[in-house]
This record gives sequence, structure tokens and C-alpha cells, in this order.
Amino acid sequence: MPGYEPFLLCDFHVHTTWSDGRLSLREVVDLYGQTEKFDVLAITDHILSKKDLLGRLGRLATLGRHRFSITPETFDDYMGDIAKEADRARREYGLLVIPGAEITQNHLRAKHNSHIVALGIKEFISADLNAKLILEEIRDQGAISVACHPHHRTTSRMEIATCYLWDHRKDLAHLVDVWEAANRDDLFSVTSLKHYPYVANSDFHKEKHLYSWKTLVRSAKTWPAVKAALKANVDIAITLFRKTSCTAA
Ligand code: ZN
Ligand code: ZN
Repeated sequence: MPGYEPFLLCDFHVHTTWSDGRLSLREVVDLYGQTEKFDVLAITDHILSKKDLLGRLGRLATLGRHRFSITPETFDDYMGDIAKEADRARREYGLLVIPGAEITQNHLRAKHNSHIVALGIKEFISADLNAKLILEEIRDQGAISVACHPHHRTTSRMEIATCYLWDHRKDLAHLVDVWEAANRDDLFSVTSLKHYPYVANSDFHKEKHLYSWKTLVRSAKTWPAVKAALKANVDIAITLFRKTSCTAA
């Protein structure tokens, strides 16, 4: 009955070996599916800018064995793999899998950094565009933008601060569909002070990240319905998915 749909347990920010995740897409689908708890899973591997320092260092450190970014050349294969796994996930686990990407900017000057997840992406989006153009391109594709870990400030040299969207919210908030009020173990409560639409995600890179903040969405289990529910952002909740919630009888 419309308005009385169940809450769906969702994770809209998940990495696989298509970029810097530890598990393959197939392993990720099986991990989430076998909990028998999840309804919606978005695969959001990194698209890095061409000059991305971390990506380059990572490839060097692993002697080129690992990919760190989806590229224009690998994008179609990536989307094909997601479509194939989405079909299997629906049949085996009743899990809705959504194609996405995290358009990732790691500049040396940290105040320019933004990480933007595009949910329901159809075409490759370059991380070499500025944040405004990335957000507009996401809208043009009929996809949804997520401002990732939008208030992550750090003084560590090895960590990347990603506050560009937050710091420029006056100019950009109208283009951002939802903000991560929670990412893995962190809460970004500043987003709620502005009454911004929100989600909570794991930013999954390895198995232990399964146990982290997640989103509950009251919606039918189809991408158009979930997309509309995220945008309306009315019956949305964040929940901390704990290990015991898997193993409890
Ligand atoms: Zn990120
Ligand atoms: Zn991420």
C-alpha cells in the first residue's frame, strides 16, 4: 500500500576491486546478500583525476597489480559487470544493486577536494571537471549526487580532507541531492543543522566495514522508487549495522 512500504536497509557507497576495494564485486554481493538483511546496494568505485597522487603511488606500490580508478576505457566493462551481478543479486538474494561511481578529487591543496558519489550513473564522468560541472553532469544523467564525508577535516598528511562542497554550500547545495550525515563510523551532524537531505553509508573497502552506518528508506524496492524517496528525504533513517544484528537469532 503506498505510504506503508517497509523500510529498506541500504548501503549507497561501496568499493570493489574495480578500484581500491579488497573484495571483488561478486564477493561483495555475496557478503551483503548472505546477511539476509540488506535490500539495496550501490557499487560506487572511484573515478580519480588523471594526476591523482594517491592513485599513482598506489599503482607503483602494488607494481601495477591493482586498479585504483575506473577509466573511460574500463567504464563499459565496469557497468557490464554491475548489470550481470545485479541480475544475480536479485535472483539469489532479492537484493537491488545500483550502478554508481565516486568521482574523487584528491588535490594537493586539500581545500579543493570533493568526493561525489553518482547513483544511477549511465556515462563516465571525469574527475578532472570542477565540482559544479560534476554535479550538473550527474543531474543531466538523471542520477543522484551524494556529497561524501562532507565534513572530513584532517591535519594528517596521509589523509585527505574533503570539505569543498560543505565550504561552498551556499553556491552548490542546490545541486547536491543528499549529504552523508554518516560515513562508516563518523557522524557529520553539521549536515542536519542545515536540514539538508541525508544518507548514511559504509564507504565499504573491506569486510569489517560491513558493520557501520547505513540508511533505512521507506520505499518500494525499485531504483525509481528509491531514487524518489532519497530526493524527497521524508521517511529516511540512519542505523548502525552491528555484528550482533547478523548473528542474533
Ligand atoms: Zn571518498
Ligand atoms: Zn568511498
